[in-house]
Amino acid sequence: MDLLKSTQTVIKEALEKLGYQDSMFELLKEPLRVLTVRIPVRMDNGEVKVFTGYRAQHNDAVGPTKGGIRFHPAVTEDEVKALSIWMSLKAGIVDLPYGGGKGGIICDPREMSFRELERLSRGYVRAISQLVGPTKDIPAPDVFTNSQIMAWMMDEYSAIREFDSPGFITGKPISLGGSHGRETATAKGVTICIREAAKRRSIDLKGARIVVQGFGNAGSYLSKFMHDAGAKVVGISDAYGALYDPNGLDIDYLLDRRDSFGTVTKLFTNTITNKELLELECDILVPAAIENQITGANAHDIKAKIVVEAANGPTTLEATKILTERGILLVPDVLASAGGVTVSYFEWVQNNQGYYWSEEEVEEKLEKVMVRSFENIYSLSQTRRVDMRLAAYMAGVRKMAEASRFRGWV
Ligand code: NAD
Repeated sequence: MDLLKSTQTVIKEALEKLGYQDSMFELLKEPLRVLTVRIPVRMDNGEVKVFTGYRAQHNDAVGPTKGGIRFHPAVTEDEVKALSIWMSLKAGIVDLPYGGGKGGIICDPREMSFRELERLSRGYVRAISQLVGPTKDIPAPDVFTNSQIMAWMMDEYSAIREFDSPGFITGKPISLGGSHGRETATAKGVTICIREAAKRRSIDLKGARIVVQGFGNAGSYLSKFMHDAGAKVVGISDAYGALYDPNGLDIDYLLDRRDSFGTVTKLFTNTITNKELLELECDILVPAAIENQITGANAHDIKAKIVVEAANGPTTLEATKILTERGILLVPDVLASAGGVTVSYFEWVQNNQGYYWSEEEVEEKLEKVMVRSFENIYSLSQTRRVDMRLAAYMAGVRKMAEASRFRGWV
């Protein structure tokens, strides 16, 4: 089942559990708006290449839509739609005044020069500028986009609108109104979820064996935070392979050696595969790379007691069922990876008020939001006797459905 279909399946189930009629599902099953754009870019060799991009706005009943922009060769319209729905759910779960949005461009930034990337980023903003804005739809980084790309996009938007618009986009460099703590926010949020989940399963994090798939923004910082908390990170991976050491890997060394795309295993010869990594003996497994990694084919072989999804969509619905039946606690993506959008919200608030917070203030606020959200979803899953994914979807759609009803849309 593809990502959009499986998301719609769980949304339907969540709305039914909450007692909503079919018309609410009809409203929420797809984004309200999806814009497809064609972006001509003059490449360094003088030729013009035309790229395809998307911006999806799932639901703006609660407030402006918000969500990242992905640069990847495998971007599709359906993927962008599904990701925009997940952003709505995340905003509902951590209780932000937003709906979900998402953007993507079909491209491979690893094969483009710095200047080509700048021209593509500016071209995308010109193409979507009518649809976005600080009170309409606020973009952010996602896979293969970073603070430099956000800076170009903000500059282009400010030039079009003829006023400084830091609140147009989040994930900016600190000197352009970015927030302290944004870079590590997703990993911090995942770390808090791991700590809370471990408490529920009486696992002491000191000495606990952790396996992390993916060593990019989310996976590498997470490995560092786990290592610093006294856990033993016994396995990590990237797109090319995985490293395993039952005594714990030297995370500081690996962090130092990884490249900007999260690649590090190429430096080693004694690697294992990503498939073997997922099936390692460990206490906590964190998929932090890509979709569809734990499926019906390997869910029976997962040895972890807790799986915390830092990536979007790493576990299929079939695998969710198998893991739950096996008594493995699964903390779903829409909760575990919501630290990023939470600190993006903090950045937007700081831009709007023109008053900036210290790193400690950001961390303290993030801690409160994540602990409260985890507790809400965990207790909802216990009282309604559902897995944490369904509980998270129930919590995530509730405010959006209420707001849509109050507005008279359904
Ligand atoms: P990234 O591009 O920085 O890193 C991705 C990592 O995954 C790299 O180490 C890469 O080598 C690895 N990888 C790629 N293909 C792989 C494969 N086939 N098998 C194993 N590993 C593979 O991306 P990121 O920002 O760390 O995001 C990772 C996941 O977390 C994505 O699903 C993303 O949507 C999700 N996420 C990220 C954020 C954020 O703020 N960065 C927020 C929410 C969710």
